[in-house]
Amino acid sequence: MAKVIDGKAFAAGVRAEVAKHVTELKAKGITPGLAVVLVGEDPASKVYVKNKHASTVEVGMNSFEHRLDAGTSEADLLALIDQLNADPAVHGILVQLPLPGHLNSELVINRIDPAKDVDGFHISNVGLLGTGQKSMVPCTPLGCLMMLRDHHGSLAGLNAVVVGRSNIVGKPMAQLLLGDSCTVTIAHSRTKDLAAVCRGADILVAAVGRPEMITGDFVRPGATVIDVGINRIERDGKGKIVGDVHYESAAAVAGAITPVPGGVGPMTIACLLANTLTACCRANGLAEPKGLTA
Ligand code: NDP
Repeated sequence: MAKVIDGKAFAAGVRAEVAKHVTELKAKGITPGLAVVLVGEDPASKVYVKNKHASTVEVGMNSFEHRLDAGTSEADLLALIDQLNADPAVHGILVQLPLPGHLNSELVINRIDPAKDVDGFHISNVGLLGTGQKSMVPCTPLGCLMMLRDHHGSLAGLNAVVVGRSNIVGKPMAQLLLGDSCTVTIAHSRTKDLAAVCRGADILVAAVGRPEMITGDFVRPGATVIDVGINRIERDGKGKIVGDVHYESAAAVAGAITPVPGGVGPMTIACLLANTLTACCRANGLAEPKGLTA
C-alpha cells in the first residue's frame, strides 16, 4: 500500500515557515500584504476568497480585500489594479477567477505588475518560467513540486507524466518538473493509449478535471501519484469531493500518493502565502526565503 503524502500537514509546515519569516520582516518594519480582488457573487469564489483572507491574517500578513459587484466595468477593474500596483503596502495581487463574462481575464491578469503577480499567470511570469528564469510560479504546481522534492529529494532523471495541459496547472507543472531535470511527458485528451503513457511514469500528476479517471492500471508499481483534481460528485445520495485519481486502486500499486481532500488542495493557499512573502522580499531587496520558491 502506498505511503500517503499528507498535504494538509505539509501545508501547515509551509504556513508556519512563512509566519516565521513574516515575524522577522515585521521586526524590520516590513509587513507583507496580499490584495485579493473578487468580482461578483460566485459562491465557490466567495469561499476561496474567505479562506485566503483567513490564512493571510493567520500568518501575520496584511490582507486587503476588494469586493466589486458583478456589473463592474473593465475600466474600473483595471483602475483598481493600477492603484494596487502603485501601492507599496501591497506585495501580492490576486484577481479571483473566473471573472464575469463581460470582463477579459487575460487583459486583467496582464495588467497586474508581474512582480506582484502571486498567481504566476501574467504572460511575463509564464515566459520567465518557460525560460528557466526567476519568476512568480503558479501556486498549485509549486505546491506539487514542494511535496515531490520532499518525498524524492532529487527529481533528476525521473520520468514524469503530467495529464492535463491547462495554463493554470498542467503546463507550469511540466515546466517545473523539467526545471528539476525530469524527463517530462504532457498528456491530454488526444493522447493515444493514455494508460500505457502513464505507466511509464515514476511521477504521475493528474490534472484532468474528470472524477477518478486515473485508475490503478495507469500506475507503474512504486510510482508517486499526485492528484490535483477537485471534483464534486454525488455518491450514495451524498455530496463528496474526489480527485482525478481512483484512490483505492491507485494506492494499491503506487509507492506514494496524495489523497483528495487533504493532498494538493491545502498546498495551493500555502504557496500563495509563500509567493506573497517572496514578492515582499524581492520588493525590499532582501534574500528570498529558502525552500519556499521553485
Ligand atoms: P482544465 O479543464 O483547464 O484542463 C483539463 C486538462 O485535462 C486539459 O488539458 C484536457 O485536455 C485534459 N483532459 C480532459 N479530459 C481528458 C481525458 N479524458 N484524457 C486525458 N486528458 C484529458 O482543468 P485545470 O487544469 O484547471 O484543473 C484540473 C483539475 O485540477 C480539476 O479537477 C480542478 O478542479 C483541479 N484544480 C485543483 C486545484 C487545487 O488547488 N488543488 C487548483 C486548480 C485546479 P485538452 O487540453 O486536450 O482538452
